[in-house]
Amino acid sequence: MAIERTLSIIKPDATKRNITGKINAMIEEAGLRIIAQNLTRLSRKQAETFYAVHSERPFFQDLVAYMISEPVVTQVLEGENAIAAYRELMGATDPGEAAEGTIRKAYGIDKQENSLHGSDSFENAALEISYFFAGKEIFS
Ligand code: ADP
Ligand code: MG
Repeated sequence: MAIERTLSIIKPDATKRNITGKINAMIEEAGLRIIAQNLTRLSRKQAETFYAVHSERPFFQDLVAYMISEPVVTQVLEGENAIAAYRELMGATDPGEAAEGTIRKAYGIDKQENSLHGSDSFENAALEISYFFAGKEIFS
């Protein structure tokens, strides 16, 4: 098993509801370590660049508006198979389809306001970590 790092974002619906601690507790209980963390409000440009892969999707403008509506918590998580492990812990994109025990099942509101982002591949994890944490302290 490989020790990996992944990029997590606790999204605006969760910061707004004051549940970032509850989400972090689920992350830590699952054995992932939070090795860097920052509360920030994304600029429109940052959100558009981060989600550029979805720029042609009908929900893109709504997604960007939502992502900049409140602060977010950006995090680097570390652990065994962290990328897949965190995707599993997050649950399905639509919280209504998320499995019991997942964070989106517990706290997600709908397909858009689903409380979390997690990198979906090793390559994207590296890109996304450098996008938010280049030059910043990361502990392990
Ligand atoms: P995931 O976050 O599970 O990797 P995607 O990469 O498919 O999901 O989508 C990125 C984000 O865009 C989702 O987490 C969600 O906030 C939003 N989103 C995805 N699909 C929809 C949709 N059909 N309607 C509204 N928002 C969506
Ligand atoms: Mg995705």
